[in-house]
Amino acid sequence: MPSFVLASHLDRKPTEREPGRGPGTTSNVSCPVSWHFPFSGRRPVRRSVAVAGVVVILVVGGCSGEAPRPAPATEPGRDGLAVLVFTRTTGFRHASIDDGVAAIRRLGTANGFAVDVTQDPERIQDATLGGYRVVVFLSSTGEPLGPTQQAALKRWVEAGGGWVGVHAAADALYDWPWYGELVGAWFRRHPSVQPATVQVTDRSHPSTESLPVAWTRSDEWYDFRDNPRRRVQVLGVVDESSYQGGGMGADHPVIWCHQQGRGRSWYTALGHTKASWSEPRFLAHILGGIRWAAGGD
Ligand SMILES: [Zn+2]
Repeated sequence: MPSFVLASHLDRKPTEREPGRGPGTTSNVSCPVSWHFPFSGRRPVRRSVAVAGVVVILVVGGCSGEAPRPAPATEPGRDGLAVLVFTRTTGFRHASIDDGVAAIRRLGTANGFAVDVTQDPERIQDATLGGYRVVVFLSSTGEPLGPTQQAALKRWVEAGGGWVGVHAAADALYDWPWYGELVGAWFRRHPSVQPATVQVTDRSHPSTESLPVAWTRSDEWYDFRDNPRRRVQVLGVVDESSYQGGGMGADHPVIWCHQQGRGRSWYTALGHTKASWSEPRFLAHILGGIRWAAGGD
């Protein structure tokens, strides 16, 4: 029984908003909820979640017979999942990146997966990416990748790599259409940090299954250039009636996932604040996103 333990622990000028989709819009996009369990080759038999204080135990279930993964960890002593956290910024750099790095390292230690962290775009190349199952873009803003690195990331994801985007990962690479597909929607603007309620509309996903249906917490609530619902499977929306300054209307996705080629993409708009990275529920959310992204093919 694998145990997953949660270790306790810009601003841009607004641009014109493109028309979004209204409330009640349905999506034909779905994210598979079964996944190949990559940690040390264990064969899970069932899944449940228990949350007790800062400890989350996941008993992962029912997956076998999936196609071989293209990106096994191969270094000695790294026989399980390896995650690369990429934090390069050429735009706004969040102070919370350091907290996020530390938190993801703790998640890795507690859950038996390797975590490497880099700001070096040269790490985004075929030979290096081949050692990872998941790459996390942790509020990586601006133009963090050049054309050669962009091509390598695209090849790796399309071949089955898992991409996780956190918060300002949506505030990057606006001139690269494929990245827009990968993240799902680009950032547009945000009001000041304040409490709001996320309606967790799909709790069948590893990143949301331990969350309350109405999840109230403080963060910086992004508006996006358009509503990604027709392109992604939306897992959670922020209730604009619960805070000031939302600009997307009644259907305001902030958590979503989708398949990208043979790979998986998961994005959460949450995670601006340093405090986010010591919230047990937020950490369970991030861990579930990483785990789900690790299983795509
Ligand atoms: Zn932010």
